[in-house]
Amino acid sequence: MGWEEKVRRVVPYIPGEQPKQKGIIKLNTNECPYPPSPLVKRKAAEFRTDELRLYPDPDASLLVKSLADYYGVKEDQIFVGVGSDDVLAMSFLTFFNSDRPVLFPDITYSFYDVWAELFQIPYRCPALDEDFRLKKEDYLSENGGIVIPNPNAPTGLYEELDTIEEIVASNPDSVVIIDEAYVDFGGRSALELVDKYENLLVVQTFSKSRAMAGIRIGFAAGSSKLICYLKDVKFSFNSYTMNAPSIAWGAASILDDGYFKETVGKIINTRERVKKELSALGFVFPDSSSNFIFASHKSIPASELFEALKQEGIYVRHFNKPRIDNYLRITIGTDEQMDELLTFLKRYI
Ligand code: PMP
Repeated sequence: MGWEEKVRRVVPYIPGEQPKQKGIIKLNTNECPYPPSPLVKRKAAEFRTDELRLYPDPDASLLVKSLADYYGVKEDQIFVGVGSDDVLAMSFLTFFNSDRPVLFPDITYSFYDVWAELFQIPYRCPALDEDFRLKKEDYLSENGGIVIPNPNAPTGLYEELDTIEEIVASNPDSVVIIDEAYVDFGGRSALELVDKYENLLVVQTFSKSRAMAGIRIGFAAGSSKLICYLKDVKFSFNSYTMNAPSIAWGAASILDDGYFKETVGKIINTRERVKKELSALGFVFPDSSSNFIFASHKSIPASELFEALKQEGIYVRHFNKPRIDNYLRITIGTDEQMDELLTFLKRYI
């Protein structure tokens, strides 16, 4: 394949997903509607810009240590990156090869196939069942690696940890990545398994439950062997994985567990209320364990609702993809934002 053919196959992230106009209700990219912890605000106020003269700590030790302490693993089991997209892309480069296909579900986070195409890693996408559930059997035989988002995006469905463990245990020679961008909203993390399985890498982000999408922090937890290789690859691109504010403010966010739990709790309560209201309006959806609901209306096409909402200044996500093109992915915002959405839908429907 020539280089142009290779890059033409890559579908980059659509910049239109980040609209610039003010006053809209933004429920399209699963951000947190609440601000980061007040401790982050304090750290930001204290931050001395003189420090920017110097290169940041290449090991991001402060952030790595806070994560290791919080999750009960050793510091050499944590890798940090510029958002979990960075961590995941580096993991594709490090752990997957061109000799055997990597597996990930057919309906999933849209960056996996982009990275596979770009890095020329072959991939296979076993179909989810009719309820959008993972079919475990598809992942139990040896292959070139596995990526499973749990909860999945855009469905929001969580697979039990026993299922994940069975998949990890049955693939000892391949790296299994569990992408837990949404796990804080209703799942049990596979982090508790990282000391048991050397082939398991768990990836999380500060962009959703920690309300820090703007600063770009993601991390991976795994065996020290996997983390060491991941660092070698990442440091071959840039020795400074994180900038100085990310290190300081990210660590502050981890310290404020009370605020974190309160924020996540509020989002879960709103989600459960909105589920009931959407059902009453004739929507059907998989039972979300995340900070969004993947909903389809029984009689009105999703593309029509998407456009009508957009006209109203309410942005949700619609995917023009087979099997899911009649669904809208609606991020859980504040109660007030969700009320505006529901009021509009009641009127429209
Ligand atoms: N994984 C999944 C499943 C996601 O939905 C997202 C966010 N769009 C990411 C990873 C990347 O998040 P970030 O780079 O902001 O950490």
